[in-house]
Amino acid sequence: MALRSKATHQQTRAHNVALVLRTLYDHGPISRAEVSRMSGLTRTTVGDVMAELVEDGLARDVGRGPSTGGKAPTLVELVDGARHVIGIDLGEFAFRAAVVDLRGRELRTTERAVGGLNGDEALEVVYGLIDELVNGGRGTLLGIGVGTPGIVDPQTGTIRWAVNLDWRDLPLGKLLAERYGVRVEVANDSRAAALAILLFGDRAAAVGSSAQMNLVAIKVGRGIGAGIVLGGELFHGDGAGAGEIGHTVVEDDGSQCRCGRFGCLETVASSLAIVERATEAAREHPDSALGRRLAAAELGGRGLGLDDVRAALAAGDEAAAAVVAAAGRYLGRAIAGLVGVLDVERIYLHGSVTELGEPWLRAVRDEAGRRSLGPLAREASIELVPPMGDLVVRGASALLLTSELGLRSAPAASAR
Ligand SMILES: [Zn+2]
Repeated sequence: MALRSKATHQQTRAHNVALVLRTLYDHGPISRAEVSRMSGLTRTTVGDVMAELVEDGLARDVGRGPSTGGKAPTLVELVDGARHVIGIDLGEFAFRAAVVDLRGRELRTTERAVGGLNGDEALEVVYGLIDELVNGGRGTLLGIGVGTPGIVDPQTGTIRWAVNLDWRDLPLGKLLAERYGVRVEVANDSRAAALAILLFGDRAAAVGSSAQMNLVAIKVGRGIGAGIVLGGELFHGDGAGAGEIGHTVVEDDGSQCRCGRFGCLETVASSLAIVERATEAAREHPDSALGRRLAAAELGGRGLGLDDVRAALAAGDEAAAAVVAAAGRYLGRAIAGLVGVLDVERIYLHGSVTELGEPWLRAVRDEAGRRSLGPLAREASIELVPPMGDLVVRGASALLLTSELGLRSAPAASAR
């Protein structure tokens, strides 16, 4: 019994620290009394926790606030630079790494192009990036967070399969933890992005509603994957594959996917699929805006790009509009499935395909709405992620901040 009560006591303490930190994070500078009111913790508890945070350098007094009659209260704020995290985005064309502060602001960054690197070479690049940033100072380093394409075991940080990097069962989390001696978190890039939106995104719109704790963020680029946050926590699924919607078959007689099967969502709604279909349409209509852009591209020794499709759209090209709308509808169908299962109101889209803008987004929304149950469809909002820097780098940092500092969920809604 003694053991159990000790464990419970430690859990309670960690919970209290996280609650106070989160309140400072969202509302500081703020008085201790206000923290107590918002968090539901007693003033004594808040005072004790705050003393520890100040001693650890995580919080500091910043003078007095306005008086409400009696003595003006001392205000406390979070010290944004008290701890640092290295966040890494193992993107398809480049690896980016950054030292970020507790707000996810990038203090120093570095990156390398990685086109065509194989498994071991790619790993050396990861080491090189971290070495460079760690050498700038490791005193306040809380840990390293990595966002990677592919399927990742979040418990061990092992990358089970990343197609483009040719990584299979790579224990990246373990390798980095041993090499640098800090805590390491590795997650799929779509999930990291979802966590970035939860922790650093605009929470003002959702404050006070339970919806702030649930969201789905879908990356639509060369690959398509969803990060699912339920109750303020990333949802991984039983086999760490939750949100892998890109390889659900949506077309019975579809074309072959890079996963080997036929007709996956990626074969009809990814950036590559859109460019492929647009190229076919351009050949069928050589006099269209799209056709002319293809001719110009081929003169320059390249093929069509997503920016060509966007330009043709802007010029009112009907063939381009049809291609983009069809891709949007496939994604909308997949979103309707998610909304039907999860009843999550906040759906965010990011990734290169979102650059196609309103015509694409409209097709996504219309199809998702058409295929969802009325009340669910009305309540769900499908939005592009507002610009907030490198989502995956910030999300990779967020992995560490949530696991190490408990900066996870907002203070109890009842206290608001
Ligand atoms: Zn596939």
